[in-house]
Amino acid sequence: MVYKICKIYQMSILSNCEIKCSCGETFEAELWKAVNVFDDPDLKEVILSGRFNTVECPKCHKVFYHEHFFIYQDLENEIIAYIYPQADKNMAADLRKKMLSEFKEISKGIEGFEIDYEPILYFGIEDLINTLKSEDYIKDEIDILNFIAKRIELDLIKIKPSKARNLCVLHTIPKVKKTTGDLKKDIVSGLEQLLKYNPNLVEYENLLARIKQNISCLDEILSHKKEK
Ligand SMILES: [Zn+2]
Repeated sequence: MVYKICKIYQMSILSNCEIKCSCGETFEAELWKAVNVFDDPDLKEVILSGRFNTVECPKCHKVFYHEHFFIYQDLENEIIAYIYPQADKNMAADLRKKMLSEFKEISKGIEGFEIDYEPILYFGIEDLINTLKSEDYIKDEIDILNFIAKRIELDLIKIKPSKARNLCVLHTIPKVKKTTGDLKKDIVSGLEQLLKYNPNLVEYENLLARIKQNISCLDEILSHKKEK
């Protein structure tokens, strides 16, 4: 199967598709083939709710999700994902190669966007939904950090979201304002103060445990600091 990938990355795109229902009826419906959550934040909610690209058969009125290739992009959080139907998983290696070469070609043509991270390849919408759910969960803790930082004299270090995701680490890390001259120590103290203020931040607690076990893991994390 060959999918033609739309060269316009900046916008959400609907396209007309022919769909065959299990009752035998064939009908046409409009499905998303590109989603840009910056322009259409509601679409992210639609994906999370399980209503994305669902269609209703005009004959038997069955409502179902129609699997169909689409691109999901959230440039603010550095997520560009290619979502193929689950059935295409056996072609993963070829599709990955195709995705990377097309992506390279397309990103050259986008003005004003510097895309220095790779797209993610998924098979089936569930994988995307799982990623979005865990990002939302992490975002809640980061929002709490942002709130607390203003109250207890913490500075924030921002890591590139795509790199943070790859390293399984939160993209915003606290450090104490009053520096000891050793950034790593300042981060450990920052995390300790944060957790003293709010002991329910599981992700930050895990991060602190990870750093305490091996403080040099911060070298890699800090090498992806966001330019201010
Ligand atoms: Zn039907």
